[in-house]
Amino acid sequence: MKIGFIGLGNMGGPMAANLAKAGHEVTGFDTAGVAIEGVTLAGTAAEAATGRAVVITMLPNGAILKSVADEIIPAMDRGAVLLDCSTVDVESARAVADQAQKAGLEPLDAPVSGGVTGAAAGTLTFMVGGSDMGFAAVRELFDVMGQKAVLCGPSGNGQAAKICNNMILGVTMIATCEAFALADKLGLDRQAMFDVVSTSSGYSWSMNAYCPAPGIGPKSPADNGYKPGFAAELMLKDLRLAQQAAEAVDADTPMGQAARDLYAQFVEGEDGKGRDFSAMLPRFETRGRG
Ligand code: NAD
Repeated sequence: MKIGFIGLGNMGGPMAANLAKAGHEVTGFDTAGVAIEGVTLAGTAAEAATGRAVVITMLPNGAILKSVADEIIPAMDRGAVLLDCSTVDVESARAVADQAQKAGLEPLDAPVSGGVTGAAAGTLTFMVGGSDMGFAAVRELFDVMGQKAVLCGPSGNGQAAKICNNMILGVTMIATCEAFALADKLGLDRQAMFDVVSTSSGYSWSMNAYCPAPGIGPKSPADNGYKPGFAAELMLKDLRLAQQAAEAVDADTPMGQAARDLYAQFVEGEDGKGRDFSAMLPRFETRGRG
């Protein structure tokens, strides 16, 4: 397939490389000077998008996505798929999809989970908003870049699924970390805490698969000095998007709001930036109630 790939950063770079490795003809563009194995670089985003069956974007936020969309949509062939894999606000995703549809394109919003390691290994999960036809057209690309792709409904629903999932993740990570810190102060051994909770009703992905306590449970960033993994600032980004969406539709999300506020404090007021989001545990360890 002839593919345009715009945004070749930490995620987009390895995703584009995997597509090229699988035999697709990939033309890329990034405003930063990058070199990706197997990917031909174009001079502009529009050039990377011209004459491609699929154009993939992997960009930092909704404002940048919108400005790139303005540039590439007029350059794309009618019937081509515009596949945005960035994590952006639901409103921007729906606006770009609308604009693409009016230009005769097939838009899909398909944010991912799995992080940089998943991007490199080709094991991402895609949460997809758009039509059955668009989804079917790029199914084989999802299979190259990921291990799972779920069609969640019309445009914007991929982003909706992503922020709801990550809101649960942020909240359960905080709950798991504060419970460990409480257990410490109550004299409860961390291994015993894990053995009980991971097989009881307090279990979650945060406890069972990504345990924030070093040396306990499966290997996780806690065992690597809380080097990300999934950085606290990326969790903050997603929690902010969740609150932005909740405000737009008048949804009451008090736990999501509290999680956003706590990660904002951790990242912007304390030492959370550049650390894994599970580093909430050492944060709680050193604090009292006051
Ligand atoms: P990144 O900053 O490494 O990559 C973004 C790239 O976009 C950069 O290389 C930048 O130069 C490029 N760019 C910016 N403006 C551009 C423009 N106008 N035209 C072309 N290129 C432009 O970020 P990333 O970690 O690769 O994340 C990309 C997206 O994936 C984000 O939306 C992020 O929230 C999401 N995401 C990231 C992770 C992760 O673990 N890093 C996990 C899931 C989702």
